[in-house]
Amino acid sequence: MFRVALISEHASPLTTVGGVDAGGQNVYVAKIAQTLAAAGCGVDVYTRRDDQALAEIVQWAPRLRVIHLDAGPAQPIRKEAMLLHMPAFAHQLCRHIQSDPSRYAVLHANFFMSGWAALQAARRFELPVVTTFHALGRVRRLHQDDSDSFPDTRLELEDELVRHSNGIIAKCPQDHADLLEHYAADRRRIDIIPGGFDPRELVPIDQRQARRRLGLPQSAFIVLQLGRVAPRKGIDNVIRGVAQLAAMLAADSNAKANTDGAAQRDALRLIIAGGDVPAHEVMHCPEIRRLAGIAQSLGTDGQVQFFGQCERTRLALLYSAADVFVTTPWYEPFGITPLEAMACARPVIGTSVGGIRSTVIDGVTGFLVPPNDPQALAARLALLHTDPALGQRLGEAGRARALAQYTWPDVVRRLCHVYVRVAAAARHQHRQQAAMATGNGDGSGSGSGRWNKASDPSPVHAL
Ligand code: UDP
Repeated sequence: MFRVALISEHASPLTTVGGVDAGGQNVYVAKIAQTLAAAGCGVDVYTRRDDQALAEIVQWAPRLRVIHLDAGPAQPIRKEAMLLHMPAFAHQLCRHIQSDPSRYAVLHANFFMSGWAALQAARRFELPVVTTFHALGRVRRLHQDDSDSFPDTRLELEDELVRHSNGIIAKCPQDHADLLEHYAADRRRIDIIPGGFDPRELVPIDQRQARRRLGLPQSAFIVLQLGRVAPRKGIDNVIRGVAQLAAMLAADSNAKANTDGAAQRDALRLIIAGGDVPAHEVMHCPEIRRLAGIAQSLGTDGQVQFFGQCERTRLALLYSAADVFVTTPWYEPFGITPLEAMACARPVIGTSVGGIRSTVIDGVTGFLVPPNDPQALAARLALLHTDPALGQRLGEAGRARALAQYTWPDVVRRLCHVYVRVAAAARHQHRQQAAMATGNGDGSGSGSGRWNKASDPSPVHAL
């Protein structure tokens, strides 16, 4: 069996996502693990134990285990506080690998801290490492408003990981360019492989039915913002954009003198979904309170509705109920939510940054706007407000694009090619080293025996 270890210190595939530190990485790791295991691979996901009640080893699906490593307190902590506990995490990872009688073909590290732990294990057990960074420290620092609280050590560890990973996964062309420009990465070791969506989970649902089930007004123009509630997501910009649209509509209806204030409010709705709190507790989340304050100061609080955390089983309903999906971060290494909205045949307005720039085709599947530009956003929203057929066309084109290029099985097929390539290269290298050590010619013999080709069949055919 082809065995893969996915290492993801702060982002467990078992966590409910939507809070500050639980989002795209959790979904990425969960979906890759599930897809690989369904295709016949053996998959272990290593993550930090953040709850005493979690079993050390959870058999999540056939051939798929989640292994909780003890590193730091068994309770949720911010990822910035985890750096301190990474030596313990790496030690536990090595202990597990050593005690396992069969062997991983590859270690796939997610985020730089897991990457560092993976490198420790890779050196000790002669295993190849593939790294997906998910975010890059130097790039975050370029965006002044997005300073993270990791020390400079982050940059040194990222440099080391760029130098020593056998393969690097860039999630979009911008990520690729950033790795070359800011990390002097070797382009021969980088593959551009995006994130994806699950076509069984995200399908268009009849809009009237979706609104009825969610208790939303049938007649309103509904703008949806969904994702982690964190400052870099630019949710305040969406509120400002919708406030400007409201002002434009009010001016228009005043000119026509045909709508009263209450009807005007009902005609426009901004739903903000996400946060690590359920709907009835949204105001317990400080960031949501800040956003609610902005909406109030702009006089749009009556039109803005905070949904709190959205379970994955309700995502398709929420996307389908909306007329348009909006996401305006100022930095986005990839961005799974635009894809999910496209999968539900919704037009997407996103900022022209990072992965959004490649998933959304301006004028074809939605619109690209500059970050921090509520006026540009309002202008695009107004276009869709006045022309529902345009939204329909963009949404259908988005769905076709998402299905053609971004399903998880597609993503995992491409990842498998990388796994197989780096595993074969590592095997070759170790055979040569073993042959040289024993003076046994050119390394074409059986080598150390630990690199048994029969145990590494390619899983690609099963996807
Ligand atoms: N998500 C969710 N419920 C929420 C908020 C977010 O299931 O309440 C999911 C969302 O559907 C997507 C992921 O979290 O799959 C966010 O990923 P994305 O890449 O858009 O952003 P990131 O979290 O990586 O910044």
